Amino acid sequence: MMSQLGTVGTFCPYADCPDYGQVGQGNVIHYGKSKQGQQRFHCKTCRKTFNERKGTLFYKRKTPVKDMLECLALLAEGSRISSISRAKGIKEDTILSFLREAAQHAQQVEAILLNDYRIGGSQIDGLWTYVGRKREKKSG
Ligand SMILES: [Zn+2]
Repeated sequence: MMSQLGTVGTFCPYADCPDYGQVGQGNVIHYGKSKQGQQRFHCKTCRKTFNERKGTLFYKRKTPVKDMLECLALLAEGSRISSISRAKGIKEDTILSFLREAAQHAQQVEAILLNDYRIGGSQIDGLWTYVGRKREKKSG
């Protein structure tokens, strides 16, 4: 499951899609290239298309995505930023910047936390309170 982390085009990024965040369901197919040469994807379930940029988590980050997601998962599970900082050797400011960035990619982050980290919806709500974001209403 970790190998699918942040992989573009493995799940539908639209929250209103019945298959939103479902990895490996076969609903997402390659759908040609955009004018800018970006790979496009199409979800067969909701019939929407998206490009690789939308599907790319934390574009151009120096910190590995896996480390960032682990921090976010720990936060969602109720760990304090200060203890995560000590345990992982990552500055508290950096962890806060992960959170802010995660909020920019909220749909994708939520999908990965739900699927790969088994974090519940209410825990994700708790995570977003750090950045004042409300989770979109969704079952689970
Ligand atoms: Zn979809």
